[in-house]
Amino acid sequence: MTSDVAAGLIEPYLCDDDVDRIIKWTKATITRIQEYMAEGNPGAEEMSGYWMQSQKTIPKWLEVMRHVHFLSEDEMRVVAKRPEHRFGIFYTTLYLQPTTYIEWETKKFVENGGKLMKQRVENLQEVKSMGFDIIVNCSGLGSRELVGDREVFPTRGQIIKVECPKLKYFFIDDLYYALLK
Ligand SMILES: Cc1cc2nc3c(=O)[nH]c(=O)nc-3n(C[C@H](O)[C@H](O)[C@H](O)COP(=O)(O)OP(=O)(O)OC[C@H]3O[C@@H](n4cnc5c(N)ncnc54)[C@H](O)[C@@H]3O)c2cc1C
Repeated sequence: MTSDVAAGLIEPYLCDDDVDRIIKWTKATITRIQEYMAEGNPGAEEMSGYWMQSQKTIPKWLEVMRHVHFLSEDEMRVVAKRPEHRFGIFYTTLYLQPTTYIEWETKKFVENGGKLMKQRVENLQEVKSMGFDIIVNCSGLGSRELVGDREVFPTRGQIIKVECPKLKYFFIDDLYYALLK
């Protein structure tokens, strides 16, 4: 499960082709994480930081972020680290440690009468024949085989945890990101 290893920054990255739907989902996600936080659960908090760009992009989903601020030339001189960092945006979003959150959602689901079955599904007809009214396909990369979705493909990602008390803000560019936690 990819969700179990994600770094957990809430940012609708590379999703601009269906932006209104993505904004709706992001708002719903933020509301849900706020409910999770309100119960005092671990691993979720606000996180502010810098997104450095080589080409200026102002995605519509920034409207969901807080404290959005386009960096001035003076700020860029301080924050930019590489020649490709030609534009910068500061904003505040949420960070969510996925493993503990998935445990919480699973518990809520079961408490509300949900039943869990763990098995490999070869095709959706197999699930339909079990008599469910609604089937939600959230098989991630498995969709390639399950429903022949060739638009889904794996990309490389590696998280390295380092001790760095100096880091106070997240830092994202086209190739890397550094998050707090
Ligand atoms: C290192 C790394 C860091 C990342 N950091 C971030 C981040 O900071 N922020 C962010 O938003 N995203 C991040 N991502 C991306 C994010 O993790 C994924 O986009 C997300 O987890 C995908 O979730 P999903 O539910 O679609 O798929 P998954 O979490 O992969 O879940 C799919 C599930 O379907 C099951 N499945 C598949 N096929 C079948 C089948 N035939 N029968 C039964 N079950 C099946 C799988 O076993 C799995 O449990 C990161 C990814 C990586 C690898």
